[in-house]
Amino acid sequence: MTKTILIVEDEEKIAALMRDYLRQYDFDTFEIDHGNEVLTWLKRHQPDLILLDIMLPGQDGISICREIRKTSDVPVIFMTARVEEIDRLLGLEMGADDYICKPFSPREVVARVKAVLRRTDSRQSSMSDDPLHLNESSMKATVHGVDIELTAVEFRLLNTLVARPGVIYSRQQLMDSIYSDQRIVSDRTIDSHVKKIRKKLDLNDHIHSVYGVGYKYECPLPE
Ligand code: CA
Repeated sequence: MTKTILIVEDEEKIAALMRDYLRQYDFDTFEIDHGNEVLTWLKRHQPDLILLDIMLPGQDGISICREIRKTSDVPVIFMTARVEEIDRLLGLEMGADDYICKPFSPREVVARVKAVLRRTDSRQSSMSDDPLHLNESSMKATVHGVDIELTAVEFRLLNTLVARPGVIYSRQQLMDSIYSDQRIVSDRTIDSHVKKIRKKLDLNDHIHSVYGVGYKYECPLPE
């Protein structure tokens, strides 16, 4: 079935480039170039995914996404011109499904769109296929039914990632989730915990590092 992508972008050239590329890949597209029109349009249409620019005339992308999330789980990919902004966005926890930093290649956009759609389509089914299971009350992890010994810190870190597959967490967010006190730990601490968890689980492709941002967990996708 043809999927419809809503492109919210006020820069005409960028919007046109994305539209042309997405259409080549058999997506239907609709474009909106003003922030104030998005929520009205969404009352009458249900796109399969929204590419949402942050800096828009009228209502900005962040506040639009907040409104959308009150009523809908439609996948949202944020587009931003500043890589530093991604950290700030992550901190706001708006429930975006991915972030793309400008300038981007249209090829990259199509790849991200497809990946997010695959993930959201299969979110339910793949969760039950996931070989990894975490039991919060006993703080035990199993992979293919085999118990894995994790430290309390490793368990909390993994549990945070697994609770929301596909959502990218910054190192700072992960640190906040594993240490309740305000101790000073370096970013490297998270990297070394992740390294240990990966080794113990032997499921390398589950925890993905997102360059310059942090980590995310992906359920295996049914082929
Ligand atoms: Ca813009």
